[in-house]
Amino acid sequence: AKVDNPYEGAQVYVNPTWSANAAAEPGGEAIADEPTGVWLDRISAIEGNDSPTTGSMGLADHLDEAVAQGADVIQVVIYNLPGRDCAALASNGELAADEIDRYKSEYIDEIVAIQSDPAYAGLRIVNVIEIDSLPNLVTNVSPRATATPQCDEMKSNGNYEDGVSYAVAELGALPNTYNYIDAGHHGWIGWGDTNPEYDNFNASAALFGSLIGQNGMTADHIHGFISNTANYSVLEEPYWTVDQNVGGQPLNQNPNLPWVDWNDFNNEKDFTEALREELIANGFNEDIGMLIDTSRNGWGGDYRPTGPSTSTDPVTFVDDSRIDQRIQKGNWCNQAGAGLGERPQASPEPWIDAYVWIKPPGESDGASEEIPNDEGKGFDEMCDPDYQGNPRNGNNPSGARDDMPLSGHWSSEQFQELLQNAYPPV
Ligand code: BGC
Repeated sequence: AKVDNPYEGAQVYVNPTWSANAAAEPGGEAIADEPTGVWLDRISAIEGNDSPTTGSMGLADHLDEAVAQGADVIQVVIYNLPGRDCAALASNGELAADEIDRYKSEYIDEIVAIQSDPAYAGLRIVNVIEIDSLPNLVTNVSPRATATPQCDEMKSNGNYEDGVSYAVAELGALPNTYNYIDAGHHGWIGWGDTNPEYDNFNASAALFGSLIGQNGMTADHIHGFISNTANYSVLEEPYWTVDQNVGGQPLNQNPNLPWVDWNDFNNEKDFTEALREELIANGFNEDIGMLIDTSRNGWGGDYRPTGPSTSTDPVTFVDDSRIDQRIQKGNWCNQAGAGLGERPQASPEPWIDAYVWIKPPGESDGASEEIPNDEGKGFDEMCDPDYQGNPRNGNNPSGARDDMPLSGHWSSEQFQELLQNAYPPV
């Protein structure tokens, strides 16, 4: 039978490929034994494809190694939807918008066949399902200013819903698998509103709930949801609350405060706690748990404030009080100044199954400039430090580091900065 929290008391698998990269870095030994996600970022990654992202190990090799390590849990990332990453280009992927049949037969079915091998029956296999996919169908579609033609297409062809529900149902049918669906982060879907034009929060939960019943997916196939994968949003803002009154107005009611911009949350803890309730209201089980990716949301280092600002100007107050140092919360690519966050751990809060490092620290979010490749990776301007933005980040500079390699490839410079700015410190 499945346990309530697969991470409780568990030893979690250390990916030797990532671990070797980390250990080869000055100072990296200190974190090289942390568990990180195993990304199946294209069909060939299932067998192992000798790529710089995944190395030579395929899924069965990782599962064998997990057994050899005596691990209780392994974390696998299911990441290959047709028309992947419809609002960005850095991780577009290999399957065209209409290749849902290949997704099912050449990708999901193959993974199910391997995960169901009795040799792995003693492992709890956590499957993190399709990063940065479903919320796009709420926020990045017409008639919104943030719409992209690719997301409009994925909304109209239904292949994200079809793919995610199929993956969840097929993987969730195994006795030792634990599915967590990606739920963006507070800086993406933290806005609730009775006006559907501005509501991301309730609409996203409703969209997740609408998957129940598709492709035989039931609520029991879902163990929980994960926030902040491959993102930089903080666990908590220790020095201010989002509804605090500054300068005569609650911060989240201030029309001239771009950092908050009416968002109901300023952190992942409050966001996941509230989202969990909303998900239950939309048909998911009462005992679902949340995961938060803390691989790069520490924001330590020299710029970290040590207390609240005394300013009565709301903009100055928030900018001087916040630990998240990004220019804007829509910035997602290789954020300069970021640090490692909380080390992976089980049950940090009653509603949180674990803090996890699904995005392996040191692996790029995308190239700073166009780099030809055969991995299906495009060039996204959000990864160019000189880019001045688009409607999805409020037309702000990208905040990205320079000289970064293709998404998934190793960056020594980024790894070093993450170590340096770690919070808690390493
Ligand atoms: C890339 C994948 C990579 C993953 C983890 C994604 O952005 O597209 O190739 O495996 O990040 O670093």
